[in-house]
Order: sequence, then C-alpha cells, then structure tokens
Amino acid sequence: MLEIATKIAQVRERVKAWKKAGLTVGLVPTMGYLHEGHASLVKRAKSECDRVVVSDFVNPTQFGPNEDLESYPRDFERDCALLKDCGADLVFHPAPEEMYAPDRTTWVDMERLSSVLCGKTRPIHFRGVCTVVNKLINIAAPDRAYFGQKDAQQLAVIRRMVRDLNMDVVIVGCPIVREEDGLAKSSRNTYLSAAERQAALCLSRAVRAGERLAAAGASPQDIVEDMKSVIQAEPMARIDYVEAVDAVNLEPVTDLSGPVLFAMAVYIGRTRLIDNFITKGASHAA
Ligand code: AMP
Repeated sequence: MLEIATKIAQVRERVKAWKKAGLTVGLVPTMGYLHEGHASLVKRAKSECDRVVVSDFVNPTQFGPNEDLESYPRDFERDCALLKDCGADLVFHPAPEEMYAPDRTTWVDMERLSSVLCGKTRPIHFRGVCTVVNKLINIAAPDRAYFGQKDAQQLAVIRRMVRDLNMDVVIVGCPIVREEDGLAKSSRNTYLSAAERQAALCLSRAVRAGERLAAAGASPQDIVEDMKSVIQAEPMARIDYVEAVDAVNLEPVTDLSGPVLFAMAVYIGRTRLIDNFITKGASHAA
C-alpha cells in the first residue's frame, strides 16, 4: 500500500516505526512527473531495502530566476499510480512552505564540483540540490538513497557531500534509462515538439560515438571533439558544453587512465537536455 505524506512529522513517525521494527529504509528523491527512469530507482531501492520512501517535490531552490520552475511538469495522481506499481511504501509530497521556512538562512553549498559543467550556466543549482537532499535525508533517515547516473554531476556532488559531512547513508548510483530510440528519459522531454524530439536524438548519438571512440583508445580531447561534431550536425541543437572530467572530482582530464565522465548539456530549441557516459579507466579494463 502506498501512503501519502505531505508533512515532515508524518514521514518521521512512519520511519521511526519501521526502524523500531528493525526494517531498513531506502529513499528516492524526485521532482515528480515520474517515468521509467524514476521507476528503475524505486525498484532497485525496493530490492535492497525493506521500505521505500519517494519524495515528489519540485524544489524551488535549485531553479535559477530564469529557469522553468513554474512550467516544470507536474501530475501527482499519475505519479502515485506509478509508485504503487513499483512497490513504493510512502510518497512524501510537501508544499514548498513545509520544506522552507520564510526566514530560513541555512544552505548546504559546495566548492569546485558545483561550479563546473552544469554549474557554469546554473550557478545556484547545486546549492539548492545539496540543501534539499540534505533535508530529505534528515527527514527520512534512510539507510540508502538512490540517484540516477543520468544526472552524473548531481550524483558526484551528493557523494562528495555525504563524504565531507559524514552523513550516515549509502549513496547508490543507478544506470541511465533510455527511450527505445536512445533518448535519455527525462521529465523535461515533454517540452519537446515532434521535430525537437527527433533532433534531441543527437545527444544519445554523441554518447554512442563517444563510447565507440573511447573503446578504440582515443584521447578525451578527440572524443569530446567528435561528440561536438555529432551534435553540431543537428541544426536545431546548440551546445552548452561537452566535457571530459574525472568522474569522481569533476576535474579536467588528459587521458582515460581513471574513470572519466563525458558529460554534455545541449539546448534543443528552448529545452536544455543533458546526457553522459562514463569510461571505467585502464585499471578496470577487463
Ligand atoms: P528528477 O525528478 O529529474 O529530479 O530525477 C530524480 C532522480 O531520478 C534523479 O536521481 C535522476 O538522476 C533520476 N533519473 C531521472 N531520469 C533518469 C533516467 N533516464 N535514468 C535513470 N535515472 C534517472
């Protein structure tokens, strides 16, 4: 049965009872408008934890002033139906006022990792993400929390936050779920017109091209250039960035000896989409 909680106290009470009974708890933070990418996280959580809490909250503090907070798609009823199917136990769907006191003054912020890649065009984004994820972990007190590799920088930032702040939670990264034609599933795909939806395939095409070159032993620089040329061949696409960085600390790399994150953000019309892949590094080569 899926329980719906809108209040922090409600979540705390339920989790406390579970823990008293010796049950483990998994948390899946989301912004709602759920799709199979989210579902894969919930199912993974359900397979590893006794109880699963999903937060469904469009977090205002991670949106910049000119971003899509107002228009971000929402459909809570449909989300609940999907969560029931995946076996989630509790969905936390707070109003913004429940999460943020009007006179709040505390933020969780991070140097370096939050100012590269997406942080260049979205300077306050990861401060909002770190703050809300910290709050959600404090509220749901999970043993494990699940995040998608789709948002690779977010996953790296959260792993760093948990390590730096000694948070008592295991962070689990889950693979990117894609549409049949390769497009990474995203709530924002709903913004795309039919022509833009077609054009958006240049991102996954660039990922595949990059993966091929990486397997052939090309340099990160050559791989990035090739990925850029794949995207530039699509007239409706405008590159925000395509970069190769260390997958853990997001610093620039010059070779593929360690795990390397090839990440991109691309505008298709007015919609900004992201995609990525990670190479395992020479020490992991089978
Ligand atoms: P969002 O609702 O977009 O904030 O995403 C919530 C969580 O779902 C994040 O950890 C995302 O990385 C993850 N997620 C979103 N899309 C996908 C996808 N296509 N595959 C895997 N995980 C995803």
